[in-house]
Amino acid sequence: MLNIANTLKIILEDKPTFRRKQIEQAWFNTAINSYNEITTLPKELHEKLKDIPWLSLEVHTNLKSQLDNTRKILFKLHDNNFIETVIMGRKNLKQKQLSFQASSEESQSDNLQRFLPAVKMTNRDTNDDRYTICISSQAGCPMRCAFCATGKAGFKRQLSAEEIIDQYRFSQRLLAPEGARVNNIVMMGQGEPLLNYDNVKRALNIILENSDLGETKITVSTAGVVPAMEQILKDDNFPPVRWAVSLHSAIEESRKQIMPSNRKGFLEFLVQWANDYHTKFPSRTHFIGLEYIMLGGVNDNEHHLQALIKLARRMPHIRINLIPYNYIGDEPVDNVNYFARTPHEQIEHWHTELMNAGFTSTIRYSQGQDIMAACGQLQNTIKI
Ligand code: SF4
Repeated sequence: MLNIANTLKIILEDKPTFRRKQIEQAWFNTAINSYNEITTLPKELHEKLKDIPWLSLEVHTNLKSQLDNTRKILFKLHDNNFIETVIMGRKNLKQKQLSFQASSEESQSDNLQRFLPAVKMTNRDTNDDRYTICISSQAGCPMRCAFCATGKAGFKRQLSAEEIIDQYRFSQRLLAPEGARVNNIVMMGQGEPLLNYDNVKRALNIILENSDLGETKITVSTAGVVPAMEQILKDDNFPPVRWAVSLHSAIEESRKQIMPSNRKGFLEFLVQWANDYHTKFPSRTHFIGLEYIMLGGVNDNEHHLQALIKLARRMPHIRINLIPYNYIGDEPVDNVNYFARTPHEQIEHWHTELMNAGFTSTIRYSQGQDIMAACGQLQNTIKI
């Protein structure tokens, strides 16, 4: 398979910049499916572009969840690396959140039960028409978060801007025949976006320029790369998308245990960064999401809750997302690295306390658990 990013660069390097813009515009038109169909390009360019595939990603496997309207696409890249993209239909999300019933004890009591859904679905959970796609920014990830399958598999390489954009373009084309479209993008798939700063920035700018998505329909999630977070505040060309910060503990030692990439003093840095961010983007639609995956017996006691409230009070315009832990899949139950899911009642307790403390808080229902598509489960294998 061709390295499309490099090939295009070579073909277009002596051409006026507007040719590249014409191509980028055509990428986002779902009625166009080859370079030959771009009528604004001259014959000489058509000739050079005629053998270039329209997408830089090849579908290896396309899985559909039996539990909810989620698909997971395993893509093969030109150099035989793999990435995953998750496409989530979300019409009935509220109903799904309310029916979240499984307790961690129940789930852990039987090894076979570990991948059963934490929610009960009904027949009404079909024909969802609002779609969020979760895209990857790297093949693999070097951040090694302890609960994450991608982190355990290690880092392969950075994705090109084209490979990031094409996850959106593929999803657009997949949904178009159903009369649906991508409504939101979350960059929460494989990889740490801020370690691939330039390509992520370029991809986001091209998507924003050529699609109907606005800045607040895109959320980029970071585990906390301090120099890049500082850079964003100074970089006027980085689009003002929404940010989510993977917090997972408001106590430095336990955050370090969960996220080995945690830099000493990160929590203090985060408070300052969130305040500076809101000075730059004062709009209420630019809230920062704090992501908190709840790991039974690790970061979910009263002490952790109070630490979170205390830290969050120092940051303006934040939302706190509580995420039940999703099993990764290959650990025996007695493995020391095996995390447990916090009991649902305890997650509900945290949610109530956070709301009582004045925060906007949600419990995130993780879609696609039966196809290993939920938060932390992406690992480029078809293990179901
Ligand atoms: S949670 Fe995100 S940052 Fe952490 S290892 Fe997984 S992919 Fe990387």
